[in-house]
Amino acid sequence: MSEELKETEKDLSSGDDPTETEKDFPPGDDPTEKDLRSGDKLTEKDLRSPFKSEISEASEQGMADCYQCGKCSAGCPMVDYMDLMPNAVMRNVQLGLRERVLGCKTIWMCVSCETCSTRCPQEIDIARIMDTLREISLQSGMANHEMKDITCFHELFLRSVRKKGRLDEAGIVMNFKTRRPRHLFEDMVTGLQMVVKGKLPFIPHKIKKRSEVEQIFKKCSD
Ligand code: SF4
Ligand code: SF4
Repeated sequence: MSEELKETEKDLSSGDDPTETEKDFPPGDDPTEKDLRSGDKLTEKDLRSPFKSEISEASEQGMADCYQCGKCSAGCPMVDYMDLMPNAVMRNVQLGLRERVLGCKTIWMCVSCETCSTRCPQEIDIARIMDTLREISLQSGMANHEMKDITCFHELFLRSVRKKGRLDEAGIVMNFKTRRPRHLFEDMVTGLQMVVKGKLPFIPHKIKKRSEVEQIFKKCSD
């Protein structure tokens, strides 16, 4: 047997699956435990809250199916920027902690890459739950104030797609800079270079059947 094959056998017999790359949480450092040890006490009102059913219904995902394996958090590329790990978001929804979930940064740091949804052994679409939480957070005025740039961009992006059927890049940049003036002079050189190379058209390309896009938005908001 070649040395290479012997090495591979050794790896597999050690119990470690070489295809698994996830991070392990050290004992006592479970993000959910940490979250529940943060000093906030669970009240009976929280536990009786209809929040879990509200999110289950809106996202069409079984919130109760999550058994806290942590695979979603272990694979999430944005976890270092989150204040609650994705599995902790799931747990907090299960516990009815509405304010904490709708006011957390995590739902705005999520980039909808769907890694968590792909990895979940319970086939829960966590990315879809994050999306649902973002919308409810905005509708209820509970979005985290430190995330203003992201929530502003989020709203402008959806409005642009709804109105034009696709993203109007130049329009969104101008609207964003008007609404968030502290970013007015940021990326000016890059922006000009993009205009010169035709990557930032001032007149957006039109799409056919724009009304169908509007119908999708209407259906989602019903
Ligand atoms: S991967 Fe699925 S079951 Fe595991 S913690 Fe995340 S949501 Fe829950
Ligand atoms: S969809 Fe969001 S929560 Fe899920 S892995 Fe990607 S960034 Fe993380």
